[in-house]
Amino acid sequence: MRSTGSWYDVKDQEGHLWQCRLKGKFKIKGFKVTNPIAVGDKVDFDIEDKTENTGIIVNIKPRTNYLIRQSVHKTAHAHMLAANVDQAILVATLFFPRTSLGFIDRFMVIAESFRIPVVLIFNKQDLLDKEIADYQNELMALYESLGYRCLATTATDGHGLDAVKAILTGKVSVLSGHSGVGKSSLINAIAPELTLRTKEVSTFANKGVHTTTFAEMFEIEPDTYIVDSPGIKELGLSEISPKEISHFFPEMRDLLNQCRYDDCLHINEPGCAVKEAVSEGTIAMSRFDSYLSMVGGQDNRR
Ligand code: GDP
Ligand code: ZN
Repeated sequence: MRSTGSWYDVKDQEGHLWQCRLKGKFKIKGFKVTNPIAVGDKVDFDIEDKTENTGIIVNIKPRTNYLIRQSVHKTAHAHMLAANVDQAILVATLFFPRTSLGFIDRFMVIAESFRIPVVLIFNKQDLLDKEIADYQNELMALYESLGYRCLATTATDGHGLDAVKAILTGKVSVLSGHSGVGKSSLINAIAPELTLRTKEVSTFANKGVHTTTFAEMFEIEPDTYIVDSPGIKELGLSEISPKEISHFFPEMRDLLNQCRYDDCLHINEPGCAVKEAVSEGTIAMSRFDSYLSMVGGQDNRR
C-alpha cells in the first residue's frame, strides 16, 4: 500500500495493515532497480511481531505489469513506480489549464509501452462554450475509435461521476494529469471519506503540503484503489526508441509491415503506409503531428 524507504505497509486479506521489511535480494529480469518492490505488489510475508504488526516479506508474486523509469540518482538503474496497475487515467481539460493533444498522445504512448489501458477524462464540462464542446466531442470520438475509453465530467457538480466510479470499481488505477485539471476534486467528489482521512497528507493535488513524497495506494472503496506515486508525472519517452514509437500508436501498428522499408520512421520515406493513411484521413493529422514531435523530440534518444 505504501513504501517509505525500507519499510512497506502491507495490507493482508482481512484488511489489516502490517509494517514489513524485505528479506533477501529480489531482482527484476533485465533491470537493475533501486527498489525491488513497489505499491501494487502482491507479496507473501511472515509475521515478525504480532503486537507491533510487523512482518518480513519473503516473496513477491509475479507482476502483470509495472511502471518503471530511469533512476534520477543512480544511472543504469531503474526505479519502479507501481506494479499490477489495471488502468491509467488521464484527467484532461480543454478549459484551463488546457491539456494539449501532444501531452495526451504522449501519455498514451507511454501507457501503451507499459501495456496499461488508458481512460481519458475531460473535466470542467461546465466551463466549455459550444465551440469547444463540439471540438471535445470530436476528440472523444477519435480516441474512442482508437480504443481509449473517454468520459466527460464536471467534478464540482457531479456530472459524469457515476461513470467514473463505475470505471474505477474493482481496479487499481493510476491517476495523472496537469496540476489544476481537477484530479483532487474528482477524488473528493467520489470518495469524500478518503479525503477526510488523508487531508493532512494532501495527495493528488501536489500543492506542496507535504514535502516527502512516498508512493502510496488508497483504497477508495472495497477493492478499488488509486495509486499516487511521485514520479509518474515525470515518466518520459526515454525508454522508447524512435523506431518503436509507432508501435504504440494503435492506428499505425497494423500498417507497419506495409511500409516499403523495414526501418521506415514514417517521416518522409517513399512508399510509407502510415503517411498514406494520413493523407487519406484514416490517421488523424493531430495524432501524426504528435507522432512526429515524439520521434523528433530530444527526450527519446538514448
Ligand atoms: P488538481 O491539481 O488536478 O488536483 O486540481 P484540483 O482538483 O485542485 O482543481 C483545481 C481547481 O479547479 C479548483 O479550484 C477546483 O475547484 C476547480 N475545478 C475542478 N474541477 C472542476 C470542474 O469540473 N468545473 C469547475 N468549474 N471547476 C473545477
Ligand atoms: Zn512508414
